[in-house]
Amino acid sequence: MAVPLVDSYGRVHRDLRISVTDRCNFRCTYCMPEDGLAWVPREEILTFEEIERVARLHVERFGFDSIRLTGGEPTVRAHLPVLVAKLAALGVDLAMTTNGSTLRTSAGDLRAAGLRRVNVSCDSLRPERFAELTRRDGLAAVLDGIDAAVEAGFDPVKVNVVCMEGVNEDEVVHFATFGRERGVEVRFIEFMPLDADHAWSAVRVVPGDRILAAIADVYPLRPLVRGDEPAEVFEYLDGRGRVGVISSVTAPFCARCDRVRLTAEGRLRNCLFSMDEIDLRSLLRGGATDDHLAAAVTACVAAKGPGHQIGSVTFVQPPRTMSQIGG
Ligand code: SAM
Ligand code: SF4
Repeated sequence: MAVPLVDSYGRVHRDLRISVTDRCNFRCTYCMPEDGLAWVPREEILTFEEIERVARLHVERFGFDSIRLTGGEPTVRAHLPVLVAKLAALGVDLAMTTNGSTLRTSAGDLRAAGLRRVNVSCDSLRPERFAELTRRDGLAAVLDGIDAAVEAGFDPVKVNVVCMEGVNEDEVVHFATFGRERGVEVRFIEFMPLDADHAWSAVRVVPGDRILAAIADVYPLRPLVRGDEPAEVFEYLDGRGRVGVISSVTAPFCARCDRVRLTAEGRLRNCLFSMDEIDLRSLLRGGATDDHLAAAVTACVAAKGPGHQIGSVTFVQPPRTMSQIGG
């Protein structure tokens, strides 16, 4: 019988985000440094068996019903469908966040292995700007990857757009049009201070409200009832799909956050902005029982704070970049 994993603020946790690698074939300016990061040595990365054990513990002990694979870029991890099959067997809602660049070759295998949903990150529809932002000439492959995901039967396919002042804000309506035409749900994400270059500043954040106003000017919208997810989702009045904003900075979701994050080297984090982590890999490799692991997970979530303090003088950016946490 599963016991809910509740923190001291009463939030029940049921969503596990698993980073399967810290490596990535892109170098997005808002995430990684131009020269990349020192990759974690292969032997320090959790094996599929270790990941499955941690995931199973969350599902069977604590009733988690949602798992999302991320990275780095999850599709650069060899044999990913093998892991997907192991996690799909747990009977959870299994999703992945990817830069989409390899989906043309991998989408079918991932779908067949039991992956249900994908979010593809894409921050510009202009090839040159895309290349500047990702430091890779990859827009055509990503757009083809989005099509491949739809063709493989992922439903829904969502497109994540990190919206930044003076960088890609002028593409908001273009992205909305793209989503309507391709049958994908576009989600605009506010820029967060988790970039390797520490170039984040509040003035570069485009507030979700401003994004919605720009879209609604062209395509009238109606809000949908907000579920247990960070996105505020809207429906186009003409029935051509949905669009969402994740206002993590201007309207934090912390009071309802139900996520726990596992890094590629097996550290458990109770928040994107957490300064502390629990070293599950040492426990896993040191012969810990499931009771020991469960106690560590419980302690991690119990230590969770009320929410991030972005914008306040007390906020300190964590040492990990988004690519080392997983988003
Ligand atoms: N490589 C995959 C990808 O790009 O989708 C998965 C990992 S990536 C770290 C997960 C998500 O975090 C992506 O949607 C990415 O756009 C987002 N992200 C990265 N850095 C961010 C930042 N500083 N602020 C907001 N979102 C960010
Ligand atoms: Fe790689 Fe994703 Fe970070 Fe871009 S956002 S550098 S694709 S991990």
